[in-house]
Amino acid sequence: MNEQVSLARYTTLGTGGPALWFDRPETADALVERLAWARDNGLPAAVIGLGSNLLVADEGFPGVVLKLAGSLAAAEAGEGTLAAGGGAPLAVCLHRARAAELGGMEFVCAIPGTVGGAIWMNAGAYGGDTSGVLIRALVADADGASWMTPEELGLRYRASGLRHGQVVASAEFGLEPRPVAEIKATVAEMQARRKAAQPTNKRTFGSVFKNPEHELTAGRMLEACGLRGFRIGGAQISPKHANFIENAGEARSADAIELIAEARRRAREQYGVTLHPEVQLLGALEVPPLDG
Ligand SMILES: Cc1cc2nc3c(=O)[nH]c(=O)nc-3n(C[C@H](O)[C@H](O)[C@H](O)COP(=O)(O)OP(=O)(O)OC[C@H]3O[C@@H](n4cnc5c(N)ncnc54)[C@H](O)[C@@H]3O)c2cc1C
Repeated sequence: MNEQVSLARYTTLGTGGPALWFDRPETADALVERLAWARDNGLPAAVIGLGSNLLVADEGFPGVVLKLAGSLAAAEAGEGTLAAGGGAPLAVCLHRARAAELGGMEFVCAIPGTVGGAIWMNAGAYGGDTSGVLIRALVADADGASWMTPEELGLRYRASGLRHGQVVASAEFGLEPRPVAEIKATVAEMQARRKAAQPTNKRTFGSVFKNPEHELTAGRMLEACGLRGFRIGGAQISPKHANFIENAGEARSADAIELIAEARRRAREQYGVTLHPEVQLLGALEVPPLDG
């Protein structure tokens, strides 16, 4: 286990302070052992994927941060299935599935995270989501590991019922035979749509807010609130898509939190809508409550 590892380089926004302890377990047994060590030492434990939906406190995290490696970050295609570690990048999963002529995971081409992060968030795009292809997940905690079905995981719109301290060690997905050329065409079309609409060449953490139950998406609403390009410190609401926050240079997580607070305030004031953050927080960070 390493001490005081900076987490900024493990998040796509590039902000955040150090973890008190940091480790890369490579097997499910090692993962359970690290979670038990944290519990026995009275420390909180957290897992980090590719940090693509994560804001880490500038002061860091006073506990154990785990990043899955080895067999817990690998992926392999079988007969109509894909088996992957919780730390496997979704891009690797898509690559393996395509090589085995298996379709169904094309939507992950737009999501720069891992299998575990995708299950935690029930990540999705372009009409597909993780719950639609997941067969089961091996979930570890300080006492051991057991398989859970999508129902038991409580997957719903950009959320699951998983609790902190529960870590997806691996997962199995059910896929359908599909010619490579068709998979490639679908992926190319999704990526082109993505590039046209979102700031794909900037440091962001994806959508800031879940879409509200309203005729406007969160992005359109914040755009109408005049927030495109609005900046606090080194963080800026994307001039291209108002539901993204960019690191415009030397951003701190605290700057992003202030932007989130301002965006929620304006959406409430102008539309009477309460926007709920999609981004996950690690460490002593809090989105201030709205008045009333
Ligand atoms: C440019 C961009 C575009 C994006 N587009 C989309 C999109 O179209 N759709 C979408 O849904 N998301 C999108 N995202 C957000 C993000 O990629 C997803 O939420 C992704 O699933 C997060 O995975 P991660 O591994 O990076 O998780 P992290 O950001 O590292 O962590 C997010 C949460 O998941 C938890 N977690 C991570 N790994 C595990 C594990 N093994 N077990 C249990 N919990 C775990 C973390 O503790 C944390 O609470 C986008 C992000 C970016 C930067």
